[in-house]
Amino acid sequence: MAKVLEVKEISKRFLGLLALHRVSLHLEEGEILAVIGPNGAGKSTLLNVISGLLRPDSGEILLLGENISHLPPEARTHRGLGRAFQIVQPLPELTVRENLLVGALFGKPGLKRKEAEAWVAEVLDLTGLSPRAEALAGELTLLEDKRLELARALATRPRVLLLDEVMAGLRPKEAEEAVALVRRIRDSGVSVLFIEHVMPVVRALADRVVVLDYGEVIAEGAYEEVAQDERVKEAYLGR
Ligand code: ADP
Ligand code: MG
Repeated sequence: MAKVLEVKEISKRFLGLLALHRVSLHLEEGEILAVIGPNGAGKSTLLNVISGLLRPDSGEILLLGENISHLPPEARTHRGLGRAFQIVQPLPELTVRENLLVGALFGKPGLKRKEAEAWVAEVLDLTGLSPRAEALAGELTLLEDKRLELARALATRPRVLLLDEVMAGLRPKEAEEAVALVRRIRDSGVSVLFIEHVMPVVRALADRVVVLDYGEVIAEGAYEEVAQDERVKEAYLGR
């Protein structure tokens, strides 16, 4: 299987603190990979380094085989790296459809308006937001907000999608719907790397799990394997 994303020996220091220490991992085409770990393990720092919001001190990021380490975040987006945030940040005065159009035009500069509109219609359909297309983004329910955040990331036409705790705050039934949506996104041809605290979501969604603790990868494998790992149990108990 092809590796769509490769993280190679990434280290990142904040003053005295080593937030990431030679972290290596990869994402395969069509895979859903979870990155978990206790608070402060370095998960958000890792996503920020992958998306280009933070420069690592050393190491490389490869997207679809290309070294993107030197590129700013927008250029990474243009090359197929999408990102959704825990704190949803749509433009509240715009409709759902308009928010997605902004995402589509940002993701692929030079995209014709007609093409962008057609793509947005597909994203609305995939994410179940079509009935809410003309609603203002500021008027959505929490679950609709999460859908919109995923839809905005999808609007940029990613090959690889990074999700940072997008299930936070959802009730179990809503989280189930969100899990189904992420599966549909994967089935549409997008590989997914997600950070998540909600363990039932990790178990339901992840093909493979990577565990971080104090900035290092301490375990990797199927959910059932890493859940039984002594170092993983200790990491969660020790915090
Ligand atoms: P996680 O997302 O796994 O909870 P983070 O990546 O947010 O962990 O943080 C990893 C470590 O780096 C923590 O100890 C955190 O306090 C520290 N850290 C994160 N961002 C910064 C920053 N901008 N400046 C200084 N320290 C930071
Ligand atoms: Mg975090």
